[in-house]
Amino acid sequence: MATLHFQQIAKTYPNGTPVVRGLSLEIPDGEFMVIVGPSGCGKSTLLRMVAGLEPITSGEIRIDDKVINKLEPAERDIAMVFQNYALYPHMTVYDNMAYSLRIRKMSKQQIDTTVRAAAQTLGLEKLLERKPGELSGGQRQRVAMGRAIVRQPKVFLFDEPLSNLDAKLRVQMRLELQTLHQRLRTTSLYVTHDQIEAMTLADRMIVMNAGAAEQIGTPQEVFDEP
Ligand code: ADP
Ligand code: ADP
Repeated sequence: MATLHFQQIAKTYPNGTPVVRGLSLEIPDGEFMVIVGPSGCGKSTLLRMVAGLEPITSGEIRIDDKVINKLEPAERDIAMVFQNYALYPHMTVYDNMAYSLRIRKMSKQQIDTTVRAAAQTLGLEKLLERKPGELSGGQRQRVAMGRAIVRQPKVFLFDEPLSNLDAKLRVQMRLELQTLHQRLRTTSLYVTHDQIEAMTLADRMIVMNAGAAEQIGTPQEVFDEP
């Protein structure tokens, strides 16, 4: 169970540009929230602040009652999937997925069970000994998702996870993501440029513009707006 709360969060980079301007919002437990908006409107910055990769300038981010915006990324119970996958190139698929569990001192046996279960969910069982360089784009994206789900985070963040894939694979991975969310029901925040992804994946969506939420609603409410 995890509800994500943003209270008046704002970001101004040291060079003085305000990129997120006092955003307040609640993403209830299990909701798949999609963020759309023009390039440069602050979508990535918002995700990076939630993940702890970028400090916020003001405001508060909570998961349920716990304030997380001062915690280290590893302490936030959040997993992020990046557009460029961000896999460790020298590690096998297995080790890429096991890495964060080893840091958390999970037992070898439990790590093995967890990694193999995730590999099965994502169709990676036969690729566990390969390295990222030997995989296709779709396979790499599955490993990136595997690395996120093994941690059983309270919140998933996705920064345009499918935009480096070709059109056919993008459709397939979108359907897989949909199935995965129906199974796990993890509170999710998903950035995309793709209108079809937004319409099919979103419970609700945020239309961002110049660092503010211009509109928040179901895809139907947003797209039917005259
Ligand atoms: P989006 O993801 O919507 O394309 P970003 O969050 O990447 O938007 O960027 C929002 C704005 O902040 C852009 O004008 C971008 O140039 C600026 N920006 C992003 N990262 C930095 C940074 N590290 N330092 C200064 N400005 C940045
Ligand atoms: P996006 O795909 O979100 O539009 P960008 O190409 O804007 O990404 O940014 C890529 C990287 O460069 C990000 O890590 C972002 O934080 C950083 N960045 C973007 N704009 C600036 C800027 N004006 N100054 C410093 N870093 C920036």
